Amino acid sequence: MNPPLFPDPPKMQGQRQRLLAELRKEGITDERVLEAIGKVPRHLFCDSTLQDMAYKNIALPIADGQTISQPFTVARQTELLALPARNPRVLEIGTGSGYQAAVLCAIGAAVFSIERSEQLHRSAKELLQRLGYRLWLRLGDGTKGWPQYAPYDAIVVTAGAPAVPQSLRMQLEVGGHLVIPVGTQTTQTMLRITRTGPDSWSEESHKTFKFVPLIGEEGWNAGA
Ligand code: SAM
Repeated sequence: MNPPLFPDPPKMQGQRQRLLAELRKEGITDERVLEAIGKVPRHLFCDSTLQDMAYKNIALPIADGQTISQPFTVARQTELLALPARNPRVLEIGTGSGYQAAVLCAIGAAVFSIERSEQLHRSAKELLQRLGYRLWLRLGDGTKGWPQYAPYDAIVVTAGAPAVPQSLRMQLEVGGHLVIPVGTQTTQTMLRITRTGPDSWSEESHKTFKFVPLIGEEGWNAGA
């Protein structure tokens, strides 16, 4: 017999509900985002030795020295995307474990996600397929975006950048939002860039976060 598509024991479901209550308390109000987080089995995106910690509101280590973002960060970034109600198209930079991509799929978005680590790209692809999520995944440098499928209603960068990559600005739909942490390699301010016209963008700053570095042609140098 095949294993169930979502091994999701009641214990994990209960922990997920408690996480939702915590996210509400921390100020997440977008019901679409909360509903999606309530559906995605985060424990399956964590290392098997850390599954008991999966519904704590903390980032956890994944392979290749990277992290699965804290649930609050995933919720806040997704909320800031302010996705259109119908068929949003979202580009994610930094597939990592695949969790954020699964949350975006659960909202109903068409998701395009790029990862630079081959190991993470392969494992996320295998897991997302096994769980039945349908999306576009690519191995490569996400700082250049994915021009083939542009423009996007929203772009989310899940690694910390030294500056906003021009390629990503150019791949946004007019009216769309780019949510990206920008700063040093240790702390970044969450920016929301909105494309207001073919050659114009507005920018607003949100709180401070700590992400692993965005490494690539329009990001940090590898080894810097
Ligand atoms: N969104 C992920 C999740 O849900 O697990 C968390 C991502 S982790 C905080 C950041 C990821 O960005 C890492 O997996 C890292 O390898 C990746 N990354 C860094 N620079 C990148 C680049 N230029 N293009 C694509 N991925 C990149």
